[in-house]
Amino acid sequence: MKDKERYLFLDFDGVLNTMEYQTALQWKGERSDDEFGSLFDPYTIDCLKNILDCTAAKLVVSSSWRLDGIDKMRELWTARNLPGEIYGVTPALDELYFKSLDGGRDTFSVIPYGTRGLEISEWLRTHPQKQGIPYSYAILDDGDDFLLTQSERVVITEPETGLTKELAERVIEILNKH
Ligand SMILES: [Mg+2]
Repeated sequence: MKDKERYLFLDFDGVLNTMEYQTALQWKGERSDDEFGSLFDPYTIDCLKNILDCTAAKLVVSSSWRLDGIDKMRELWTARNLPGEIYGVTPALDELYFKSLDGGRDTFSVIPYGTRGLEISEWLRTHPQKQGIPYSYAILDDGDDFLLTQSERVVITEPETGLTKELAERVIEILNKH
């Protein structure tokens, strides 16, 4: 019985696109990318498939690859025969300023800590929360650019190896428990 929706916010670089696999392909003199970008590490894809088999989670792309648009993400999923389907992409927070209250203004537009977390939070606000859908979520990323309130749902990968069996188990636990 499905009691709630489950969403997996997915980063690509350092999660599915690993340094280890890229290096191996280059050593063998094989092509390491296609029209979409770097090829994903097949081991990480097996791990992702395991997560989806155990949770029926919907995929929401939080990777910067999503800036090419959701259609492109879906094309990529089909072309590479990847597991699950792309349900959504998080919005992009493209400009943010810190302003000092004594009248000065930071001349830089910055990407402050927590930006990716804010983008995820906004997606949740404008999708399941808006529709009153009960949900659970987990975040897979090799960076730690998230909000404190999201910390127990974030699983951090190593860019070298990306998603592993052990990390996939943690994601499954988060999605099925909370
Ligand atoms: Mg990354």
